[in-house]
Amino acid sequence: MLDKVLIANRGEIALRILRACKELGIRTVAVHSKADRELMHVRLADEVVCIGPASSAQSYLNIPALISAAEVTDSSAIHPGYGFLSENANFAEQVERSGFTFIGPRAETIRLMGDKVSAIESMKKAGVPTVPGSDGPLPEDDEGEVLATARRIGYPVIIKAASGGGGRGMRVVHTEAHLLSAVNVTRTEAHSAFGDGTVYMEKFLENPRHVEVQVLADGQGNAIHLYDRDCSLQRRHQKVIEEAPAPMLDPEARAAVLEACREACITIGYRGAGTFEFLYEDGQFFFIEMNTRVQVEHPVTEMVTGVDIVREQLRIASGLPLSIRQEDVKLSGHAFECRINAEDPRTFMPSPGQVTLYHPPGGLGVRMDSHLYTGYTVPPHYDSLIGKLITWGADRETALTRMRIGLDELLVEGIKTNTELHKDLVRDGYFRQGGVNIHYLEKKLGI
Ligand code: ADP
Repeated sequence: MLDKVLIANRGEIALRILRACKELGIRTVAVHSKADRELMHVRLADEVVCIGPASSAQSYLNIPALISAAEVTDSSAIHPGYGFLSENANFAEQVERSGFTFIGPRAETIRLMGDKVSAIESMKKAGVPTVPGSDGPLPEDDEGEVLATARRIGYPVIIKAASGGGGRGMRVVHTEAHLLSAVNVTRTEAHSAFGDGTVYMEKFLENPRHVEVQVLADGQGNAIHLYDRDCSLQRRHQKVIEEAPAPMLDPEARAAVLEACREACITIGYRGAGTFEFLYEDGQFFFIEMNTRVQVEHPVTEMVTGVDIVREQLRIASGLPLSIRQEDVKLSGHAFECRINAEDPRTFMPSPGQVTLYHPPGGLGVRMDSHLYTGYTVPPHYDSLIGKLITWGADRETALTRMRIGLDELLVEGIKTNTELHKDLVRDGYFRQGGVNIHYLEKKLGI
């Protein structure tokens, strides 16, 4: 087992990783920026290193500072969490070259999946269903072929940057008259935003759901899936509420996609935790991208499978085989997660400041993953996620009832939060029925 893990992250996920390390008897190193001295996991870690000023670029994204911190503390491994450097292949490579274990896939896997064109290509080969599209990048000098590709796929189409991310670098085209200019603009934007002008084309699905598959693989030939999650409730491509399992899927298509993801992990020699993201429409799955890290919404899967995903990440990084076989993974009940953000409920602008009262909800089937405490000051420099309320129930309705009660119990005073939005959503008739598509929340909000 790893001896000492440096947690290259902050907030709730840093605390989540710290707890898993403690359970396994692994010593912990917290790194923090100057604005983050008061973080809960910094108080609880065995060792603490300040890695730089408040700005993320100079602290949580500062590769030399993180590697020096691992050196001075004699850490054996680095857990990147999510966001920040978690999907940065160069970071993974430098961590390993410096003699530490990167808790995640091999750098080449991160690179393969970080380029959407190569990711789609490898998924197609592995038998994972993809969106009908251009079969690779669009040529720069052959307008006839671009037009022919769109005709073959059928309008509307979406032009996407191969290196895009975070919902940026995409453009929907409804008619042939707008195609070539849209391709050029997306290419130019992609070049300046991501340093890579490669673009490709996909059929634009009009009313899909977002359904994703959680996997674990040990890099030793064993891989399992932990079923699916539905994350369709989104605003500006940001997930707001997630649930597991995804409700009302076509049973045959679902069984096939779960198995295809598991097999793809073996085919590409995947190592660690990962997520295959799909759009789901008319009973069919279409792969859009793979996330090569632990995700914010991993707890809903933990609640319905009983598998501790972060613990498995740590075991895999220690060189141990998966502790569970596919046939041992049993789905039980239903779980929801509400992302609690420090933000103004009307404008969605971040609302940093001092938390004058924090009271987390509790009870059977209720889990609050948060780094908050009364007196803590939410700094203005980072993501506004301050916690995740997760509820489990033997069925979907019970999990949702517990979420309603939990949200009413949750008290965060001194700063503004999006709790009222969640209270409204969990009472929404369509959401309660299940299966809303990715446009539902924005339509409801009138945007
Ligand atoms: P990013 O890496 O920026 O998150 P994705 O490829 O995951 O990019 O796409 C982000 C979102 O854009 C999807 O969740 C979906 O809402 C929309 N989208 C992407 N591709 C398509 C498509 N082919 N049809 C319809 N919507 C799409």
